Amino acid sequence: MIWNPGAETVPRSELAALQLERLRNTLRWAGERIGFYREALAAARVTPESIRSLDDLQRIPFTLKAHFREHYPFGLFAVPLSQVSRIHASSGTKGKPAVVGYTKNDLQVWREVMARSLAAAGAEPGQLIHIAYGYGLFTGGLGFHDAAEYMGLTVVPLSSGNTLRQIMLLQDFRPQGLACTPSFALHIGESLREAGIDSRSLGLRYGLFGAEPWSEEMRHQIEAVLSLTAVDFYGLSEIIGPGVAVECAEVRDGLHINEDHFLPEIVDAAGKALPPGTEGELVLTALTKEALPAIRYRTGDVTSLNREPCKCGRTTVRMARIKGRTDDMLVIKGVNVYPSQVEAALLALEDLAPHYQLVVDRRHGFPSLEIHVEPAERLVQRWGRFEPTRPEVAALRQKVSERLRAALALNPEIVVEPPKTIPRSEGKAVRVVEKK
Ligand SMILES: [Zn+2]
Repeated sequence: MIWNPGAETVPRSELAALQLERLRNTLRWAGERIGFYREALAAARVTPESIRSLDDLQRIPFTLKAHFREHYPFGLFAVPLSQVSRIHASSGTKGKPAVVGYTKNDLQVWREVMARSLAAAGAEPGQLIHIAYGYGLFTGGLGFHDAAEYMGLTVVPLSSGNTLRQIMLLQDFRPQGLACTPSFALHIGESLREAGIDSRSLGLRYGLFGAEPWSEEMRHQIEAVLSLTAVDFYGLSEIIGPGVAVECAEVRDGLHINEDHFLPEIVDAAGKALPPGTEGELVLTALTKEALPAIRYRTGDVTSLNREPCKCGRTTVRMARIKGRTDDMLVIKGVNVYPSQVEAALLALEDLAPHYQLVVDRRHGFPSLEIHVEPAERLVQRWGRFEPTRPEVAALRQKVSERLRAALALNPEIVVEPPKTIPRSEGKAVRVVEKK
């Protein structure tokens, strides 16, 4: 279902005119009200009038994650706090979090773009949705919650964690939709299987999974254990939260960006614009935000843009599934690799359980990589019990090695762990462990 056909199927020429007008308004708004943008735009000699087409975008300076930290907590706000209805923040694992604010109007924009995302995944007014994203400063829980209520769904606000309780309520309430991280979805599905519950009996129809990079192979695994259509979405708090982009359930080949509110570009490491279809770093401009209008924000997420029309009828550009973050890329013995690529290679092997961990050791000069995997359950059943010295374990290790060499030219140490020892996710999965 297309929630807002006027916006989502708009002719491209009309959309471009709207984007240009909104970009100029945002430059004016931010330049007049935020000291950081006033100085940055003046130094680059950019005025709203000097931006004559979207091709002029590249004259506008970038906003970086570091700028959020420098202006912590409220220095990038364009309105006084008395006009801010809500505050959210990124997790801030590396120091102070990026703090973001929303006016009443911003919250309405957020509801609108999230309602489009829910509808694209298969939600219809009158249905139930089970939200297992964390509630709080993180935008996942409340971002879904608010929009689901707005579009007329009945919301079950579980938040993350407590898998057994989640399963009990999924069985008893029978929601059509589930929203959580892909790693948690997999854990819920596997726990169902262990409890002897047929996932088809739950009656789930669709799941909206995101907030961590995941692969096509992971999608197959989740769909198998939960019996639903798994849809990928994208968002980040610096821009708005979830609601920036979503796959359409019909095609699921790229995520439609809500381009009337978010203007996307792809740049290389130096910040130079890349030609259409090329993979690089996603840069986003919030075109309609009042409290925090981030301009040319470097997301650090690696993707590419596809402007070909989609069979679903939406005319908006599609971004490829996020491959990883620019700072997640591992360089192992001269080979560049993202954890999501390792995931895709591993999960394609039926002999492995869909759980893995990458251990990067940086203590001795060049980083080395260990990949920890678990044998598939049916394999262990056939063996009788797990014994690390079994020849079958050595054979499995060999098989994984060959797979990684063939798919990624990687030659890491493979460690086959006993079943159920790699940590399961009840929120965000820890895929990479660094030894420093
Ligand atoms: Zn589509």
